[in-house]
Amino acid sequence: MRKPKIRELKEAITSLFSKPYTTKFPYKEHKPFPKFRGKPQYNEEKCVGCGGCFFVCPSKAIDMIDDIENKKRILIHNPDRCIFCGECERNCITKEGIKLTNQFDVSYLKEQDIIKSKVEHNLIICIACGEIIGTEKHIKFIYDKLGNLAFSQPIILTELIKNLKIPTEYEEKFVPPINRQDILKVICPKCRRIAFIKDEIKEIKK
Ligand code: SF4
Ligand code: SF4
Repeated sequence: MRKPKIRELKEAITSLFSKPYTTKFPYKEHKPFPKFRGKPQYNEEKCVGCGGCFFVCPSKAIDMIDDIENKKRILIHNPDRCIFCGECERNCITKEGIKLTNQFDVSYLKEQDIIKSKVEHNLIICIACGEIIGTEKHIKFIYDKLGNLAFSQPIILTELIKNLKIPTEYEEKFVPPINRQDILKVICPKCRRIAFIKDEIKEIKK
């Protein structure tokens, strides 16, 4: 039999007289350490619905449902699929849209008992092709970041006009195809490029 080394003997004797590292949970309340990575939670006010957390989640624990008909985006966190890696929080563009809490007790007996954190946002849809441009809150977030520089971006401009509630062409019913004069309508970058290219071709042909 191998003889124990002095270091191992010292450790064995020390641990006889020191407190255990484990806690008595569930018999006694357990207080996690301050940096403990527990169940992530959305913050409805701070989340802008960009979808970043959905794209970076390695375990596909976040569902992003885009309901184009009702112009809604819903983000749902599923704790049963989460590995608590913290990538969603680390990559959140507002840094506060989703945060890991210190909630560790997330086991359930039935699937319907799982408590899921979710947020809902209004979508902006291209009126020409029906593509998703982004969420209203995301556009506002970009404007807040860029300030006046944002005025060079027609989508941001149209969103700001909409918030002023001035009756404009914005609310007109749009009938495709899109033309260059329609660039101040809510159209996606692809449709905008097509409108410009068509216009340039017309100019060249003249
Ligand atoms: S903590 Fe990791 S696994 Fe859980 S939702 Fe966030 S990114 Fe996904
Ligand atoms: S703002 Fe943050 S929490 Fe909200 S969708 Fe974007 S990355 Fe996710």
